[in-house]
Amino acid sequence: MTSVFAPGRVNLIGEHTDYTGGLVLPMALDSGITITGQHNDTGRLVLSSSQFDEPLDVALPIGGDVTTLQPVWGRYLASAAQQVGLARGFEGEIESTLPAGGTGLSSSSALACAALLLFGGDADRTELAKTARSIEFAATGVNSGLMDQLSVLNGVAGHALRIDCGSLDIAPVPLPDDVEVLVFHSGQPRMLADSEYNERRATCEAIEALIGPLREATLDQVSALDDPTMVKRGRHVVRENARVDAMIEAFTSGDLSLAGEILEDGHRSLSEDYEVSTPIVDAQQQRVAAMPGIYGARLTGGGFGGSLVALAEPGTTLEIDEWWMRARPGQGATLSD
Ligand code: ADP
Ligand code: MG
Repeated sequence: MTSVFAPGRVNLIGEHTDYTGGLVLPMALDSGITITGQHNDTGRLVLSSSQFDEPLDVALPIGGDVTTLQPVWGRYLASAAQQVGLARGFEGEIESTLPAGGTGLSSSSALACAALLLFGGDADRTELAKTARSIEFAATGVNSGLMDQLSVLNGVAGHALRIDCGSLDIAPVPLPDDVEVLVFHSGQPRMLADSEYNERRATCEAIEALIGPLREATLDQVSALDDPTMVKRGRHVVRENARVDAMIEAFTSGDLSLAGEILEDGHRSLSEDYEVSTPIVDAQQQRVAAMPGIYGARLTGGGFGGSLVALAEPGTTLEIDEWWMRARPGQGATLSD
């Protein structure tokens, strides 16, 4: 019997910057997905999940396109099996301590990374992250950056990760002792997230075709673009990259009020410049940001609904109707026999 645990992740700051080689500051969680199972000689991949009724049962090796396969969640597993050339057979079970139903904590990356490690992916963790990203692309058609997979695979307990998505350098950043990370839902399921995501990505590529890499661009350069939408999108990316290092400095100096302000600035930028928020998300952000014990809050993840993240004094509770949790920075994916 082999077992693998892969955590979810929450991004503290650095949103919509990974796909232009920018900076991000996510942390792996201490909750995630566990797959337990065994290789066999049946020539089939058979898995069940405690969060879904219908099991996966497909013949190996997996050939061709996985996007018509049922159940939908099985596409990640089938694609992972395809990536490592799984042929003999495998049977197992999936358990999750992440909330069911798309809260934006990267259960999909946790699943892809867990499957890859379990089925025998043995490259270094950066290569595994790239393969996990291809798995998600094959399963969903979403052309994501590498932040989620790198966080899931490289998490360090008690730390966030400064990831340079250009060089792929990863530096653990200790979280101050006197702060707690809260994740809470906006009350709005993520809508249009995939198509809008691809659209934002295309705009960034168009900007880069005009002025070169956004990672090196200045505010003056993006402000001088002709297209007003490009100005706003570019301005978000340039400022958001700067906010990642500003947040690390705020953590290092223990200035949690400043850390909170950086979150608030980040939210405003996502809402007004990158335009990936919604009225419901904005209202939830304002409600929570005004609560006692909260330093600041912002939308986290791709946007158009989903979850928000806040920095708070330890012991702070959220008086909201929606789901929320205390997020503790945990270890990256681990395989055990
Ligand atoms: P996120 O990655 O932010 O949690 P996504 O919409 O990208 O949200 O991924 C959620 C999808 O990942 C689910 O619809 C399902 O296909 C798959 N998934 C997540 N958790 C599980 C699980 N415990 N068992 C099986 N599939 C899961
Ligand atoms: Mg996902």
